[in-house]
Amino acid sequence: MTMTADRARLKARVFTVRARIGQKIPMCELCGISHASDLHEHWISRGQSTGNPELQEAILTSEYNVSALCNDCNVNYAEKDSSRKLLRKKSIARYGSDAIVKWMLNLPFKSDSDQAQHLRDVIRLADEIDREPVL
Ligand SMILES: [Zn+2]
Repeated sequence: MTMTADRARLKARVFTVRARIGQKIPMCELCGISHASDLHEHWISRGQSTGNPELQEAILTSEYNVSALCNDCNVNYAEKDSSRKLLRKKSIARYGSDAIVKWMLNLPFKSDSDQAQHLRDVIRLADEIDREPVL
């Protein structure tokens, strides 16, 4: 299975699961107005996996790491801190912090500190959601 095919399968699966009943395409997880067209990596970016092909494949093919966004939000808003935080919180609300932590513990990070930073992000946001639910 090639990376492109894996990515296409992920997109089809995410779009199917996240679409509302009666819709083929989900609404954008940021604006909620336009239909999604793109997948965006919200926990670990392509840039953070540069030079580590195993990590890159893992982060590009996991539903835990992607949001379904419209192209405008993907290009213009997804990298803003507030957007990233919201998308990460939605990911935790959808899959649970335990599942995301378990996924991250099995990723082939180059250093323990990279992994620890990402794990801290999950735990911190999960604590925030406990205090103030996002969905
Ligand atoms: Zn949008």
